[in-house]
This record gives sequence, C-alpha cells and structure tokens, in this order.
Amino acid sequence: MSLLSLHLLGSPVLRQRSKEVGAVDDEVRRLIDDLYETMDAARGVGLAANQVGVARRVAVVDAEEDRFEMIDPVILGSEGRDSAEEGCLSIPEIFGDVSRPERVVIEATDRDGNRYRKEATGLKARAIQHEIDHLDGILFLDHLSLIKRQMLLARYRREHKDDTGYTKEVQPESASSE
Ligand code: ZN
Repeated sequence: MSLLSLHLLGSPVLRQRSKEVGAVDDEVRRLIDDLYETMDAARGVGLAANQVGVARRVAVVDAEEDRFEMIDPVILGSEGRDSAEEGCLSIPEIFGDVSRPERVVIEATDRDGNRYRKEATGLKARAIQHEIDHLDGILFLDHLSLIKRQMLLARYRREHKDDTGYTKEVQPESASSE
C-alpha cells in the first residue's frame, strides 16, 4: 500500500466525470487499499479516486464505524433534508453548511466484485453523497449560495496564493499526529 498525493481545488481531474469501473481487478483493489490508507492518514471520512488523480468511479468512506468502498455507486433513492457543515480534503481549511437529503439508499460494487445495497442516514449519508458528487466532478462548494461560494473561494485563494501546484503530499499518520 502507498500514500497518494491529494489533488486540490484547481486540479482539472476534480471537475471531470470519472469513468465506470465495471469488472474489479487487482489494479482496482490496489487503488482501494491506497485510498483507505491515504484517507486515514489525512483523517478524512471519505475519499474519491479523482482526489488522488484517478478518474475512475471508486470511493471509500469511513463514517459512524462503517468502513466501505463504493465502486460504480448509484443512488437508488433519497428522502428528507438536512443541513450540516462539510469540508473536503481537496479544499483544505474551508468549511460550509451544505443541505442534502438526510437518508439515502445506494447500490455499489465491493472489492470482491459483488453488488451490494446500503441504507444510510446522518453523517454516513452525507459522506456517501459528498463522495458520489466527486465522481461526477461536483464539489461541496457547488451546493452553496453564490455569495457564500465566492466568499469561501476568495478565502481559499488568499490562503493558498503561494501554492506551486495542485497536489499535496499526505504525511504518514505517525508523523502527523499532534
Ligand atoms: Zn471532498
């Protein structure tokens, strides 16, 4: 397994619609392992493949003591409405309240190639929707009002004006613990 570099706001791959995976092979399983490792090191609750520069429909989630991968996920149904603060590993230090369905039912493929269904509410439902958005090139900022989005983008640009590229190295967990 290896830690992968995170792609940050501005990287074109974050705005692409990622491609379907179909059959799960060893390369996809390796990608899943690396996504889990990178998500853990970055202390995220989810990570999509295009956030590490791979435009395929794969994401991992670790929320409410449930840890799972989603390959070619689809939302079968959703209900309710809930607003809560979200952040994104690709947009460090920026947070905003996002309104989303409170409950979702999804279908996805696991690492063994089996399709499964999952029902989720609360933080888990939010993480699932946030990650599936990534696979469609959508960021949580897109769900905010224009004014709020422009405010956060201006703050982000101010804080990242010295960045030289669109990727960021993730430090191993042991080295980054405070
Ligand atoms: Zn994100």
